[in-house]
Formats: sequence, C-alpha cells, structure tokens
Amino acid sequence: MNGNHWTNDEVVDHLYGVGPEDGHERECAECQWRIVELQARREAAASGDAVTAGFLRSQRLAIAGRIEARRMELQAWWRTPVWVAVMAALALVLSAPRPAREATVAGGLNLAQDAEMYLEIYQSISSEEPRALAPMHGLFEEQ
Ligand SMILES: [Zn+2]
Repeated sequence: MNGNHWTNDEVVDHLYGVGPEDGHERECAECQWRIVELQARREAAASGDAVTAGFLRSQRLAIAGRIEARRMELQAWWRTPVWVAVMAALALVLSAPRPAREATVAGGLNLAQDAEMYLEIYQSISSEEPRALAPMHGLFEEQ
C-alpha cells in the first residue's frame, strides 16, 4: 500500500484473493471502483467468443504471408547490394590505370636510354684512343 490507496498490483492481487488484508477496499470508494472496473474487464476478457478453427487458420495464413513477404524483402535487399558491389568492382577494374602498359612504355624509354648508355660505354671501352685524349677532340671540332 502506498499511503492511502492500493497500487494496481495490490488491486489485482485482491481480485485473485491474495491482496492486502487491511480492509481498505471497504472504506475507499476510489479503490472499490478500481476493483469493480478491473473485475468487469477480467470477466469481459474471460467471456470472449470461442476461437474457431477457421479464425486460427486465417491467422496462421496471415502470419505465414507476413513471414514470406519479409523473406522476399530480405532476399531482394541481399541481391541488390551484391550486384551493386559487382558493378562497382568492375567499374573500378576497368577505370584503373594499367600499370603493365605504362611500365612497358616506361620500360621502352628506359631501354632506349640504357641502349644509349651501353653504346657510350662500349665506345669508350672499344676505342683504341686513350680517354685522356677525348678533350682534345673538342679543340678540333668542325663548326
Ligand atoms: Zn483507496
């Protein structure tokens, strides 16, 4: 009991015969009214129409329909991102720079530079003229 009136739990306990034994329900009109109202609700709920087999079948079909609709929603949700991801990956692959091709071009440049360097090395090695005379060629270049 919370001060003056019974709590809802105490009223419900009273309806089931296990409530407080303080006699408050006999003195308090408000709590008496709550007890009567709750008693009426309980009787209304207990005297409901009997559940028919047809009602249960239609309820079961409605639940199965909702479950199936939800499953279809989830499948559609699952498939869409996969296709989006596949298309995004494909676009990424197709739009990505092709390093092998660039390397080939760069490799071609490197090969040309390398060939030039090797030619210079070969010429410097294979020349019978001493390297010390190379600056002398600058003195006699034709202009
Ligand atoms: Zn009361």
